[in-house]
Amino acid sequence: MELPSTVRTGWLLRGPCLAMCLIAATPVGSSTHADNPPLPRVGADACRAADVGVQVLGSGGPIAEGGRAGTSYVVWIDGQGQLLIDAGPGSFIRFGEAGLKVGDLKAIALSHFHADHSAGLAGILNSGSFEQTSEPLIFIGPAGASVFPGATAFLAAQFGRSNSAWPYLGGYLDGGDSRRPMIVREIAADDTENGILTPIEITPDLTVAAVPVHHGEVPSLGYLVKAKGRRIVFASDQSAFSAGFELALKDLSPDLLVAHHVIPAGEGQPIGLHRPPGEIGRMAAVISPQRLLLSHHMRRSLSRLEEGLAAISVHYTGPTDIADDGTCVVL
Ligand SMILES: [Zn+2]
Repeated sequence: MELPSTVRTGWLLRGPCLAMCLIAATPVGSSTHADNPPLPRVGADACRAADVGVQVLGSGGPIAEGGRAGTSYVVWIDGQGQLLIDAGPGSFIRFGEAGLKVGDLKAIALSHFHADHSAGLAGILNSGSFEQTSEPLIFIGPAGASVFPGATAFLAAQFGRSNSAWPYLGGYLDGGDSRRPMIVREIAADDTENGILTPIEITPDLTVAAVPVHHGEVPSLGYLVKAKGRRIVFASDQSAFSAGFELALKDLSPDLLVAHHVIPAGEGQPIGLHRPPGEIGRMAAVISPQRLLLSHHMRRSLSRLEEGLAAISVHYTGPTDIADDGTCVVL
């Protein structure tokens, strides 16, 4: 799809020419949004070389459009992809393109169990079956509500030894078959006005704190990640009714805020599920990040991108960038 030439977008790392594309990656635009310094985004190589980097594996949403994988991010620390946040469909391919290894992961955190955030998990874990690592893997996800399972039930439905989709991958639950047993941390996901942070130390260099967000009836978590002193906020899918999230992260000034750019401003949009651009800007003003990265794009939101950026800048005037699959932000 065509983007306004004034907006900085990611690097072209997609398509059938992967090996070539990595070499030939070129930026497709440069930002005139505020007077931002250029964002160093050069794909997996830059993230691997950095102390800390955030790479976008999937920058798309629930509709198969625009060549984007479903939502997924990885936090690189000292050359290893150590934390996977969400695993949307297509993230399996991007995971391989980035040279990531399941054996390097210390934790997987899923924000919620909509398929555009979770349907790629089995493929990625299956890939890890061919690696030799038995170290436990921490799995973080929301507790269940309404028709949605909690993290434990979600995994059991896929990998349980009986009555599941793929019982042959049951070693990911019980440690059998030389697979990595997952230690499940199921977090209550009721968004309250109190703002509850649940920090989980993964390693001395990596802490993941879950924060409930409001996403319609879907139990959902945002995440505050601390990696070697850098702070990254993944807002996840959330509506503007996420008062507790804002309160918990008020004036945090993290290095990066990743927000989901799902709907344009205007009538007829599902505001009970997602923030329109103006509300993304208001959230950014409350949290005050060094950089804002927009991801989880849809054709409907990208088609009105200039208008959306203008609505964001009413509240937040810091650097704002547009994620593509493969985008790396070095922190
Ligand atoms: Zn989504």
